[in-house]
Amino acid sequence: MNDAPFQQLQLSIEEQIQSVCTHIHAQEQHHTQKVLTTFQQHGVSERHLHGSTGYGYHDVGRDTLDRIFAQLCGAEAAIVRPHINSGTHAIAIALMGILRPGDELLYITGEPYDTLRPVLGIHQTEPTNNLGSLRDWGINTTVVPLTAQNTIDWTAVQKALHTRTKVIALQRSRGYSLRPAMTANQLREAVQWVRQHAPHVTTFVDNCYGEWVERVEPTDDSIGIDLMAGSLIKNAGGGLAPTGGYIAGRAALIERVAQRVTAPGVGNAIGSYEGGYRSFYQGVFLAPHFVAQSLQGMIFTAAWMERLGLWVSPRWDEPRADIIQAIRLDSEQALIAFIQAVQKSAPIDAHVTPIPAPVPGYDRSVIMAAGSFIQGGSLELSADAPIHPPYVAYMQGGVTTAHVKWAVQNITRELIKGGHLSI
Ligand SMILES: *Cc1c(COP(=O)(O)O)cnc(C)c1O
Repeated sequence: MNDAPFQQLQLSIEEQIQSVCTHIHAQEQHHTQKVLTTFQQHGVSERHLHGSTGYGYHDVGRDTLDRIFAQLCGAEAAIVRPHINSGTHAIAIALMGILRPGDELLYITGEPYDTLRPVLGIHQTEPTNNLGSLRDWGINTTVVPLTAQNTIDWTAVQKALHTRTKVIALQRSRGYSLRPAMTANQLREAVQWVRQHAPHVTTFVDNCYGEWVERVEPTDDSIGIDLMAGSLIKNAGGGLAPTGGYIAGRAALIERVAQRVTAPGVGNAIGSYEGGYRSFYQGVFLAPHFVAQSLQGMIFTAAWMERLGLWVSPRWDEPRADIIQAIRLDSEQALIAFIQAVQKSAPIDAHVTPIPAPVPGYDRSVIMAAGSFIQGGSLELSADAPIHPPYVAYMQGGVTTAHVKWAVQNITRELIKGGHLSI
């Protein structure tokens, strides 16, 4: 296929998805105004962008970033730190901060994301080696699978609930699975159920990949989640934060989590970062824009791939609550060609050919395309796939929609070349 049919197809897809993109523009405008008024209320100025050293007592950049982030999430308090190394780390700190030996954790959205299994100490295929998982500390996790319709199975949750249940956890994003992301409405319903049936239980959300995708975050009063955590090298860092994670929620819970981030007794009083917070503030400012760009890229991808006859989830016009686009290929070879084509379309390391390999924290071989400015940064265009049937590529990010559109054309070319697709 030469370029002319691609251009025609692109125009046709752009026309098809226009109404959804208009909605995303409106939401970006809403979020950006909220970010700007929040920055202004907190009087953000040059001095906040600089770092501190040593203990970091009274680090105004750090403390103000916490307050801004909390307000944007509709939460009472937040901890935003470069020292939180990943989403997994943020979630581990949050859970270990609020659970105590003998407590129980109930995960009600099915199997948690792969890297959380060693944190929780579930499904260990080998001995835990006393890693200090929740299980090692006497905190048991029960996972309640979703129903066949991918909704929360409240009957099973009710059965699994008992007096020791302390936290009910939900994963907003689909992760490496084919169920849709949990929407704000579903989270709201979950909170209402918990308030009615287990009012003493704390609700927690793994918010990775969810930030800025909908109007409000899970900790907003209109939803009511008590605590959530996420990564700054996904949506929340706006592609600019060089590393980091966050936890946001009720002040009393954040106070306890802070004792885990540093040490009991010290909590939020310390934490310096000589490099300064410029890219964190700027990342928060730009995140709504880049998330909107990436959403438009994924909507374009969904419509395009479906036009080529591939199964996609979500479809272009289905509601989205994360930035992930799943595309099913017919074979392992097609899947590998797809991921390699994403890498070939990257600004960084485009000449590198990714191959399937074991990855720490994942128990299946995974192939990853991540030609990003931030190592593993996945608000930038990236794609991952566990090498396992059904052969599904999980694609996400793209801080410019134009990059995604070009990548989609390259993917299509490679699939045709490899004989995986005929059009
Ligand atoms: C990415 C992700 C995590 C883990 O984050 P890392 O930064 O990779 O450690 C946890 N949960 C979900 C749903 C994710 O998408």
